[in-house]
Amino acid sequence: MFLEIHPDEAQFLNTVRKFVSEEVLPNTREWERNAAFPDEIWPRLGELGLLSICLSKENGGLGASCNAYCQVIKEVAKGDPALAMNLSAINALCLAHFDHFATPEQCAKYLPGVIKGEIKMAWGLTEPDAGSDARRVKTMATPIEGRPGYYHLNGQKMFITNGGKADLIVIVARVSDTELTAFFLETNQEGFTIEKRINTVGVSASNTVQFRLKNAVAWHTPCKFEEAIGLLYRGRLGIAGMAVGIAEKAFELTLDYAKQREQFNRRLADMQSVQNMIADSAVEIEAANLLLSNGAKLYDMGFPAIKESSFAKLYASETANRVTNRAIQIHGGRGMTQEFLVEKLWRDAKLTEIGEGCSEIQRLVIAKQVLR
Ligand SMILES: Cc1cc2nc3c(=O)[nH]c(=O)nc-3n(C[C@H](O)[C@H](O)[C@H](O)COP(=O)(O)OP(=O)(O)OC[C@H]3O[C@@H](n4cnc5c(N)ncnc54)[C@H](O)[C@@H]3O)c2cc1C
Repeated sequence: MFLEIHPDEAQFLNTVRKFVSEEVLPNTREWERNAAFPDEIWPRLGELGLLSICLSKENGGLGASCNAYCQVIKEVAKGDPALAMNLSAINALCLAHFDHFATPEQCAKYLPGVIKGEIKMAWGLTEPDAGSDARRVKTMATPIEGRPGYYHLNGQKMFITNGGKADLIVIVARVSDTELTAFFLETNQEGFTIEKRINTVGVSASNTVQFRLKNAVAWHTPCKFEEAIGLLYRGRLGIAGMAVGIAEKAFELTLDYAKQREQFNRRLADMQSVQNMIADSAVEIEAANLLLSNGAKLYDMGFPAIKESSFAKLYASETANRVTNRAIQIHGGRGMTQEFLVEKLWRDAKLTEIGEGCSEIQRLVIAKQVLR
């Protein structure tokens, strides 16, 4: 597909491709087995600029376009979808939170470490009783007397990507019956306890946890709930990029397999029903890429791209699930074994239909926009 991208960003994308093929893809099975990334990955990600893709240049980041950001997430997902998911949450949600809502003092304290991978981040909205209905957040924030800007947080968060490793978490919490806002929370304190590691069917290396906050001290980042949640529009484009990366990788592996495997004295690739599956996947990947690039370009032009980010996320995530399912079908029994990567991609793809708003919520967003 033709991709318009700034020459500097194209260079960055090439560096990312090399990193993925040499340092990510060869390790993806091991990271899944260990249900963790190695600690050394964080400074390496920092060195490559992957922990500051979306951060503005004024704040020391790369200030990359949304288009370039989505292409980077797509490339990383071809090597390891869990890593792509982490980078997506860190860049589009955590770093964007700094750009939009952090005070200069907060930026100065944390950003140099975040960019280098010394301070690892996570984004905490979801709770046991607040998933799709995010406004139901119960975590309560109460101002600490004599410490302006600081609050005590009490509550529970669940399904937080990288939560088991994070040093600093953006927490969405309630300050009154009607008002919600967000905070920076350092995890190295008594009030923060990891209750459990959540073992998921895919993206296991991403260290998803449930944690409790008991009088945990947090620093307010003045913003309204809708503003904090508004970051999900670009976030959803990142998840769409992750979905397209998964689909493209499964498709590439399937083409190779279909060309070499023979049954009934001919290649699978020469059988019409296999060709039909391949053709359907090819069209859907192309369409998902176009929706992704359209959403990202609108975002780069300054539009909120609310509908378009949901278009891209909904279609790309469902495409990733269909394409990986067909990939296993074409691999036959071998497709279900760990000898072939398609089974992992199929499991990893599921997250893209759920995280950052499940498909049903994307359909609600789209319907609301088109019925206005
Ligand atoms: C691996 C993983 C990582 C995650 N990482 C993060 C993270 O870093 N930070 C964070 O804050 N959250 C994170 N999440 C949480 C994720 O965003 C939520 O799981 C998601 O928003 C859905 O919420 P829920 O799981 O509570 O499902 P529920 O809200 O209980 O919904 C269950 C199902 O009900 C249906 N449904 C719900 N509401 C509606 C509706 N209005 N109309 C029609 N159907 C509906 C849908 O089919 C939906 O899938 C992560 C989740 C996973 C699995």
